[in-house]
Amino acid sequence: MPNTKPKIVVIGAGIIGASTTLHLAKSGADVELIDESTPSNQATIASFGWINANTPTNKNYFRFRMNAIDRWKTLIAEYPSLPVRFSGSIDWDMDENEIEPTHELYQELGYDSDLIDTKRIEELVPTLEDAPKVAIINHSEGVANPDLIANAFVELAKQHGATVRSDTKVEWLDTTGNQVNTVVTQSGRIDCDYVIVCTGTQTGTLLSPLGIEVPLDKIKGMLARTNPLGSMCDYLVSMPDLHFWQMEDGSLIVGENQAGDTLTTSTKKQKQLFHERLNNRLPQTSDTKIETISTGTRPVPSDGMPIVGAAGSFSNLYVAVLHSGITLAPIIGSSLAREIIRGETERNLEDYRLARFDQLANTNNPLTAAGASA
Ligand SMILES: Cc1cc2nc3c(=O)[nH]c(=O)nc-3n(C[C@H](O)[C@H](O)[C@H](O)COP(=O)(O)OP(=O)(O)OC[C@H]3O[C@@H](n4cnc5c(N)ncnc54)[C@H](O)[C@@H]3O)c2cc1C
Repeated sequence: MPNTKPKIVVIGAGIIGASTTLHLAKSGADVELIDESTPSNQATIASFGWINANTPTNKNYFRFRMNAIDRWKTLIAEYPSLPVRFSGSIDWDMDENEIEPTHELYQELGYDSDLIDTKRIEELVPTLEDAPKVAIINHSEGVANPDLIANAFVELAKQHGATVRSDTKVEWLDTTGNQVNTVVTQSGRIDCDYVIVCTGTQTGTLLSPLGIEVPLDKIKGMLARTNPLGSMCDYLVSMPDLHFWQMEDGSLIVGENQAGDTLTTSTKKQKQLFHERLNNRLPQTSDTKIETISTGTRPVPSDGMPIVGAAGSFSNLYVAVLHSGITLAPIIGSSLAREIIRGETERNLEDYRLARFDQLANTNNPLTAAGASA
C-alpha cells in the first residue's frame, strides 16, 4: 500500500466489521465504518458470547481458534476495559464416553484443560443438581458481553481516528473494471480505494450483484436472560441440554442446545421451557425469572469455516463472514487489516478463502473433474 493513505470503507458494524476497523485504525489507516443501523444490532447482539476453540475434529481450525484466544488476550492487555473475561468453562455437553477422549485430544493439541470429578464440579458450580461423573474444565476460555463488545471496538476505533456512520444503509457498490470505486449509500456516494464487506447474514445482498456468490446458511438460535441473581459461578457451564454464564449484573445468559423445538413455540412457552430446563439443573434458581428471550440468525458459511479475504476477481474488495465471530473477531480483524495494509498474503487465513468454493464446484463438476476443456 503506498504512503498516501488510501481510503478504506468497512461495511457492517457487528463484531467483525468493528474489530477490523479497530485494527485498521490502529495501524494508521484512513478508515470509515458504515452501518445501516447502530453498531451491533444483528448476530452479534444475539450471541451467547462464548470464546472457545470448540470441537477438535478439525485440528487446523482448532489451532486457529486457539490462536484467536491468544489474540483476545493480547488485545485485552492493550485495552483492559474491553467487556470480556477469561474465567474458563466447565463442559460435559457430549456423550459421557466422549469426554475423556476429547480431553486427550485437547492435551495433544496443547489446549489448557483438565478433567474434573463430581466433587470438584459441585464445588465450582454449587447450585448444580445432578452433577456428572466427569467434565472438562477449559482454563483458557472466556466470554464477551454481546451487548457491549462491538460498541467497545467501535469506540476504540474512533479514538484511533476511524470515522463511523450509523443509520446509513449501503445500497450497492459501483465498479469500474476489476475495481470497486464507490460505495453507494442511501444518503450519498463514498469514493474509496478498498471495501470490506462485513454484513453478516446480508453479505449476499451486496456481493451477488457483482457476480460473487457467498454460500451461507442462516441458522436461527435462541437465548434467554434472567433477572439479576446473587453470585453463582465464575465459569461458563455447558451441559447437554443447557449452557449458561453469569453476566456482570448478576443475570444469567442461557442457551439451550436443542433450540429447534423452542424456536417454533410462543414467547410465553419459550420462557417456560427455558425456566424448566434451568430449574431442573439449578433448583436453587426456582424464583428466577426469564426476563427476555432473543432470537438471532447465525451467518454460517456452508462448510462451517470462516470466509475471509479477497472477494471475487476485484482487486480491492474483501469480505469477512463467519460463525463464531465472537471467538474469532480479533484474529480475523487483525489478520485482514495486515493483509490489506501490507499487501501481503496472511498465511493463517489461507484455509478460509472464498475461492475454495469455486475449487469445490470445479471438483464436483463432472466435466471439469474429467478434464474436459469445454
Ligand atoms: C444465538 C447465537 C449464539 C451465538 N453464540 C456464539 C458464541 O457463543 N460464540 C461465538 O464465537 N459466536 C457465536 N455466535 C455467532 C456470532 O454471533 C457471529 O458469528 C457474529 O456475531 C457475526 O458478526 P458479524 O459482524 O459478521 O455480523 P452481524 O453482527 O450480524 O453484523 C452485521 C452488520 O452489518 C450491518 N449491515 C448489513 N447490511 C448492511 C448494509 N447494506 N449497509 C450497512 N450496514 C449493513 C448490520 O446492520 C449489522 O450491524 C452466535 C450467534 C447466534 C445468533
